[in-house]
Amino acid sequence: MNTPDSIAPVPMLDVNRQNGPLSAQFERAIGEVARSGAFVHGPACQRFEDQMAAYCGVAHAIGCASGSDALLLALMALEVGPGDEVILPSFTFFATAGAVWRLGARPVFADILPETFNIDPADVARKITPATKAVLPVHLFGQCADMEALRAACGDLPIIEDAAQAIGAEYRGVKAGALGLAGCFSFYPTKNLGAWGDAGLVTTGDAVLAAKLRVLRDHGQQPRYHHSLVGLNSRLDAVQAAVLSVKLAHLDGYAAARDRHARRYAAQFARLGIDRQLLLPRVDERCACVWNQFTVRVTGGRRDELLKWLSDRKIGAAVYYPVPLHLQSCFAALGYRRGDLPASEQAADDVLSLPIYGEMTAAEQDRVIAALAEFCGAAKPAARAA
Ligand SMILES: *Cc1c(COP(=O)(O)O)cnc(C)c1O
Repeated sequence: MNTPDSIAPVPMLDVNRQNGPLSAQFERAIGEVARSGAFVHGPACQRFEDQMAAYCGVAHAIGCASGSDALLLALMALEVGPGDEVILPSFTFFATAGAVWRLGARPVFADILPETFNIDPADVARKITPATKAVLPVHLFGQCADMEALRAACGDLPIIEDAAQAIGAEYRGVKAGALGLAGCFSFYPTKNLGAWGDAGLVTTGDAVLAAKLRVLRDHGQQPRYHHSLVGLNSRLDAVQAAVLSVKLAHLDGYAAARDRHARRYAAQFARLGIDRQLLLPRVDERCACVWNQFTVRVTGGRRDELLKWLSDRKIGAAVYYPVPLHLQSCFAALGYRRGDLPASEQAADDVLSLPIYGEMTAAEQDRVIAALAEFCGAAKPAARAA
């Protein structure tokens, strides 16, 4: 089908719409950094770390260069290395497993719960061995993993949260990042709190771990040029910290807008009777979801067809993630086979994420819904559906 050129695309994400209204604040904050001359660590970084600790309800927040580094640092602080196993979900972004692998430890992939896409605590329990050093659940798409069941399964094993997609999400009123021994955040521009480049942060309530993380992110030196550990150069850039401080004040508002969009998708799918062709994401009643993605399952093996249908209509959509990590060729040596983690494999075949960013207009969302309805063969949605 040919979409007329005059029809504006509905993007998957438009960061400019979020940044635009704050431009004066950004200029002021970045100007302050410029005049301070402190571009690495320094007051802007300290301020953002303090704000994040308060926001998440934890005692310590340690900024670093990316979410991937946050994971690496947290695992290094636990001294994960060769001979150790770390249990994590197969259905996640690559960085979760990459951090384990890079430390020479073995990623042990657990399956997911089909309804929430999050790690299955019962499968974690089955995969714990004497070599298990940590469990690394991911709060995927903005919803916390089932932490109660995980804690019960893990006993004394440390739980490190991959909270890269879940800043602000809650489990029984406790924020992501405050649910495990440590929480790892990413501020990559597509995350709910997005920087203007790469940035990351680790949260923890443990003072000893926090001190170790601060040393590890700075080449393991303390004091300067005295290295008790081999660390990384993984610094939080002051310009990014300044941008993030400005946006953090608005984060809950952004999340509320995402939640409104999610509810509207759900209500409209039900009204149109297309909620059996497009299975809605389910939010566990104990969770407050921040909707980093709104991810449906397309039934009948029609996912790729729908992706093309939307792209022909200039509607953004994406597959997160098309290949579960246990089947990635770089992990072939681990010996996993298709069929080992059926729920992860099925999710990779079925999922499609739709635009959900806070600044999406009702008219844009109507276009997405109308295109989905047409694909599913449903009646045209009401022009001004509530
Ligand atoms: C984005 C992401 C990361 C990595 O964060 P970067 O800042 O891109 O390094 C890790 N885990 C998950 C689940 C992510 O979504």
